[in-house]
Amino acid sequence: MDVIIVCHTEFGHVERIRGVRYVVFVKSSVAGVEKGVKSLARLADTHGAKVTFAVMPETAQNFPDVGNGHEIGLHVHAGWMEREFFGIRYQVGDSWLRAHSTQSVDSPFLSDHSFGEQLDMIQAGKEYILECFEKEPKVFVAGSWSINNDTVRALVEAGISHECSGVAHTKTEFDDWSKLPRICMPYYADPDDYQLRGNLPLLMVPISQMLVGSSVNPEHVPLWGLSWLKACFAEYYAQNLPVFHICLHSPCMTDPFFVDALNELLLFIRLHKDVEFKCTSEIEEHEGNSARTKLAPYLAAINKTILMRPLPRIRDVAGRIIRG
Ligand SMILES: [Zn+2]
Repeated sequence: MDVIIVCHTEFGHVERIRGVRYVVFVKSSVAGVEKGVKSLARLADTHGAKVTFAVMPETAQNFPDVGNGHEIGLHVHAGWMEREFFGIRYQVGDSWLRAHSTQSVDSPFLSDHSFGEQLDMIQAGKEYILECFEKEPKVFVAGSWSINNDTVRALVEAGISHECSGVAHTKTEFDDWSKLPRICMPYYADPDDYQLRGNLPLLMVPISQMLVGSSVNPEHVPLWGLSWLKACFAEYYAQNLPVFHICLHSPCMTDPFFVDALNELLLFIRLHKDVEFKCTSEIEEHEGNSARTKLAPYLAAINKTILMRPLPRIRDVAGRIIRG
């Protein structure tokens, strides 16, 4: 099994709000890049793991030296908009891209921008990352997981080979990955529907999803407990699935809680035979799969974080399970 770690590299820090740790994307918190990236690279190195850093152009000048063995990709947050999270105000968007590409609308979702403007953002960002890191980025992640068919076409035209925004089997008002099964292996995109297998030279690499439809991300440990992230790996591994995709945001690696969580997950993964940590650009297509939901690893890993959740949330979780 190939295991990849994709890190959305952006400014921010961790705050405890009502007893739960969250990443807050405040742009003045440069430690989210300077410290978070270094901390993740150091941790990955101790496990022989590789990280794909999907870098926002506005953070490139703050990116620390991480040595060899990891790779640099591109992370695009379109537009410019203020958001609020538990009373904390912050800006969404990329200040460098805002100044160096055409964006006629403020929407933070790529899918709200025209093909031409998406292509302009992706090309400008890619060239800037190449200039800063002297390596051509081949891997892409969209801010807010939001892409459409124009994004896929623009990525192909810009020479990107791997796309990592897929939150399989979910749909919100700004992103749609609902056609993908929860357990979804890498596939080449169809030019008319990025959620279908096709023949575009762009490999879609969806993020591994737990039973409850939540990405395998150390930032989700406060919501589901570490044992369910491990259970997800066990579920994939038991079926000989070829790829396991972990995602995270660089600011979470400024907090020892999340560093410890990822360390524990990687230690667990390393207990298994024939597991190889890879850069995302090394991942290949895997024709279909017969993956099935396996409840046993999750039932064996029921933890107090889940048991302590409020009833409405458990109903929501149950609903998600029933919907598959
Ligand atoms: Zn992002």
